[in-house]
Amino acid sequence: MNQRKPIIAGNWKMHKTLDEAIAAARRIVEITGDVTEVEVLIAPPFTALSAVAAVIRNSSVQLGGQNLFWEQKGAYTGEIAADMLRSCGCQYVIIGHSERRQFFGETDETVNRRISAALKGGLVPILCIGETETQREAGQTFSVLDKQVRKGLEGFFAHDLASLVIAYEPVWAIGTGKTASSDQAQEVHRYLRDLMAKAYGNALANSIRILYGGSVKPSNVRELMSMPDLDGALVGGASLDPQSFGQLVHYQ
Ligand code: PEP
Repeated sequence: MNQRKPIIAGNWKMHKTLDEAIAAARRIVEITGDVTEVEVLIAPPFTALSAVAAVIRNSSVQLGGQNLFWEQKGAYTGEIAADMLRSCGCQYVIIGHSERRQFFGETDETVNRRISAALKGGLVPILCIGETETQREAGQTFSVLDKQVRKGLEGFFAHDLASLVIAYEPVWAIGTGKTASSDQAQEVHRYLRDLMAKAYGNALANSIRILYGGSVKPSNVRELMSMPDLDGALVGGASLDPQSFGQLVHYQ
């Protein structure tokens, strides 16, 4: 039995107005009040962070940003710095989500800079990686992930990465209803843990939490989470409804 506390994280993406976010956060606090064995995390849009932080203040629900910029301040219209996320109550930040890679020009190099800014700013980075369907079919899954991890984490040492969380999110499974089978996910998670062991040593590899993301829902969460190297889930669609998010958090 490993000592890694699982995380169930809800990525709300570009969903929910302020009122909707507050209402959802209130329900999530109610529904998850009894949960102690799992870390519960929600990542609302930036516009709702402060208000959601106020709602979850006396609960165990944690808050994350969906992205951040690597500079601390300056003339960067539209960007958000680590300190700003912290000042809104965030403990976590999602970095390198495939939608940011696909639609907003995110690369392994910019991911690396964002991770550095998150760590310097006292935030836990959730590094998202994953292969496309074409890459999987071409037998490139492991080489793609290898590159995303190595380049994303270039320049860091094991002691820098003690808090890091990795989210394996096969692009073909995000928002598509197609989920990796538990065996497919386990195979990749094992690979990633071995990769971390080779690069940073066994201590970090054994303690790092590796989440799975890609069409996780109440009907498949238990099977996925039963695999030894899956330490939680990063969830998009099924996290938007507090009821189904509550079921995910109660998978045990
Ligand atoms: C995600 O966006 O991180 C995600 C996994 O989305 P979904 O659960 O909707 O596939």
